[in-house]
Amino acid sequence: MSHAPEEVARYICSSCQLVHAGTPSRTPAGKRRFEPPAECGGCGADDFIGIENWIHHSSEE
Ligand SMILES: [Zn+2]
Repeated sequence: MSHAPEEVARYICSSCQLVHAGTPSRTPAGKRRFEPPAECGGCGADDFIGIENWIHHSSEE
């Protein structure tokens, strides 16, 4: 069962490290984009790091 792959942005809660899928939304121009969730379902924090940035974030102490 393979669809065309769709890139879903993922965001990691910087406080409990739960991974959230980005919320799809559309710009007025009709482009698709993703937004981080308003708050973490695990701990309620609202500080998210994009998954690409997370790799740097976590290895850069
Ligand atoms: Zn959290």
